[in-house]
Amino acid sequence: KGAVVIVGAGQGGFQAALSLRQEGYEGPITLIGAEPGLPYQRPPLSKTYLKNGEAEKLILRPRKVFDAKDITLRSGARVEGLDRAARQVVIGHERLDYEILILATGTRNLRPPLPGVERALDLRTLEDAATLRAALDQPRRIAVIGGGFIGLEFAAVAASLGHRVSLAEAAPRLMARAVSPEMSERFRALHESLGTALYLGNGVTEVMDQGIGLADGTRLDADLVLLAAGVCPNVDLAAAAGLEVDNGIVVDATLRTADPHVFALGDCAAFPEARSGARVRLESVQAATDHARAIAKTIVHGTTDPYAAVPWFWSDQHDCKLQIAGLALPGDESVLLDSGAVLRFRDGRLSAVETVNDAKTHMKGRRVLAQDAAPTRDSLLKRNYDLTAA
Ligand code: FAD
Repeated sequence: KGAVVIVGAGQGGFQAALSLRQEGYEGPITLIGAEPGLPYQRPPLSKTYLKNGEAEKLILRPRKVFDAKDITLRSGARVEGLDRAARQVVIGHERLDYEILILATGTRNLRPPLPGVERALDLRTLEDAATLRAALDQPRRIAVIGGGFIGLEFAAVAASLGHRVSLAEAAPRLMARAVSPEMSERFRALHESLGTALYLGNGVTEVMDQGIGLADGTRLDADLVLLAAGVCPNVDLAAAAGLEVDNGIVVDATLRTADPHVFALGDCAAFPEARSGARVRLESVQAATDHARAIAKTIVHGTTDPYAAVPWFWSDQHDCKLQIAGLALPGDESVLLDSGAVLRFRDGRLSAVETVNDAKTHMKGRRVLAQDAAPTRDSLLKRNYDLTAA
């Protein structure tokens, strides 16, 4: 068996190495990551870690697992180039041969070209989270730029720790790309009840020494500014090597690029979503790990089944666990149920289920969405929107 080289030792890169061994791959596996230390999970960085600082709990597996599974982990090493003709990756002066290359390079934070933006802090890596955690050791006035998942999770923790938090979002509602207007509204009320001042439909124009300026002229005082205004996929290596990129590294339904020796997964991959047919890029633990498992099966067993896992996602904000099953696109209709769950529909069929602190309905949603054809709105309406019956 030839060598598999995985670029990026995050959630998906790590899972690919592990899954290859679980599927019985016997060749050499090298996992290369630019960050120091062992692969770790990011979700707690904006949640429990900010409160408890327990970095060791974030580690995905202890070092001995890498040794036992004969996975060569090279952390603190950045791949600088790909030579697809020679099938080699370039790290400094070194070149490493591969038979199969898996690109798992993730995303990096978007840094909008605002005056003073260099003053704002990021929340992407353990190092970023450690800096933020240290800054939360005394009462602060905090301004968060961006009302997406990460900005809101951070705001919820900071508010619960007693800091004075304000948050500005250019869109008219929270988490607008990902959830229904009804769910945005519920979380607006939650954050306001925590004392966070929300400025919606009001983009940031400037980061100052002691605060941020908004489009309507408002100035929010702050001695800590978090920039959480979205991410961009790390596609530079792929693009420089002549692979197609379009908001992500373009792959087919088996997560392979046009080069049969190169796969891409997770946050950096743009893949055809089985149900909508749309080319999507998902930023979730589920996508990264399920992509990795699917690629491992393809490499080891030669399976060519199209990737079709139902997307799902969670976000913890204060005492609310938001869960999303499926994938809604902007403009999908929504039906708010008495239980607080929101069903999304596209072309009359269920596209996603949004729930809060309701794991049961979330799991039902995942099951019905995994069926060949999602239930229609009419059939669900007849059953009073009971997903079990569907
Ligand atoms: P990553 O885990 O980001 O790993 C990519 C790795 O590649 C990075 O370590 C990077 O340094 C490395 N790399 C990039 N370029 C190179 C190179 N040239 N050479 C070597 N290494 C390179 N998802 C959820 O589903 N639920 C949540 O609640 C949730 N919360 C989150 C909270 C935070 C604060 C953050 C930042 C993310 C959160 N996510 C959450 C998203 C989730 O963490 C990502 O979707 C997931 O980590 C993606 O895995 P990945 O392997 O594609 O990328």
